[in-house]
Amino acid sequence: MAATWTSHFQDKLPDILAELRTYVEMETPTHDKEAVDRLGEYIAGRFRSLGCKVDVIPQTTYGNQLRVEYGEGDEQIMVLGHFDTVKEVGTLKSEPWKIEDGRVYGPGTYDMKAGIVFCYYALKTIVEQNIPLKSKLVFFWNTDEEIGSESSEKWIREEARRSTCALVIEPAAGDGSLKTSRKGGGEFVLKVTGRAAHAGNDHALGVNAIEEIAHHVLAIQSFTDYEAGTTLSVGTIRGGSVSNVVPDYAEADIDVRISTSEEAERITTLMNQLTPILPGAQLTVEGGITKPPMERTAGTEQLFLHAQAQAQLEGFNLTERGVGGTSDGNFAADEGTLTLDGLGPVGDGAHASHEHVVIDAIPGRIAVLLRLFSSL
Ligand SMILES: [Zn+2]
Repeated sequence: MAATWTSHFQDKLPDILAELRTYVEMETPTHDKEAVDRLGEYIAGRFRSLGCKVDVIPQTTYGNQLRVEYGEGDEQIMVLGHFDTVKEVGTLKSEPWKIEDGRVYGPGTYDMKAGIVFCYYALKTIVEQNIPLKSKLVFFWNTDEEIGSESSEKWIREEARRSTCALVIEPAAGDGSLKTSRKGGGEFVLKVTGRAAHAGNDHALGVNAIEEIAHHVLAIQSFTDYEAGTTLSVGTIRGGSVSNVVPDYAEADIDVRISTSEEAERITTLMNQLTPILPGAQLTVEGGITKPPMERTAGTEQLFLHAQAQAQLEGFNLTERGVGGTSDGNFAADEGTLTLDGLGPVGDGAHASHEHVVIDAIPGRIAVLLRLFSSL
């Protein structure tokens, strides 16, 4: 056995980067099923070659999801990640695979193809060195995380219910911290109907939908409560046609983030209680909070401390943090499953053109995964 697993994976870095390059150069925008399935087949083959049982869960709209099982026994831990990206096919032309200043750049490197590659190498070493496991490992590789896990949510929830804990291989927070809480959230759409009228001749007969929605925009913004971790942001607004007609329609999209399920309820109630201000106006509220918050519980803390101890064995310190963005970890946590997120790569630039992974941090991250896989 190597002095530390970190040095073992340090030696393997060229292979690890080559593997990641293969993933990155198969571009996988969520909506392009054919492209996503191409990488899916490759990933399935790689895990099969390690002796895993791979179930391909067929999907019609998005890519087929992969459920990858290794080991035996009644207890299982779930390892969660996705290989779809927000980057269109062809992004590689302007954002090519590139290694520069100790960083590897490319679409989907950080969010989160590297995470899957890390898991592959951790498992490969477990297999090759016959490292005993305490629980069965079930990897769930999702294909539609970037659009809210429409087709995968029910599978993720089902698998989480069977698992003693969920390890989410999403990117680490900026400084390498694990993510022990995530806000939940969703989107509301407010639709307002008024009455059209000539703005000059019949002003008094009109019901101005933009005037109506303006009242609600201010009200909705005021539901924000920073202390409770709740934010609402009216992000887009549309309405009206030409200036000399009193507009009969307006609508707004509202982004909502909450830190607790109580706040989710409070906001949902407030949104559904919006009532028209102008006589003759009508309101409809659509959408809702679709991602429950991932709350930091005493159990989460225990799991984090365990991960931190694994990192200490590798000679580095792991920290934790709560973040605003959601992931599939929110669904796992909502099933009451202990969830630790942000176990993937260190880097920056998710969804941006400077997306990259810090190469120096790769061996240590894989080492911690190996230790978690074999000790939980
Ligand atoms: Zn992601």
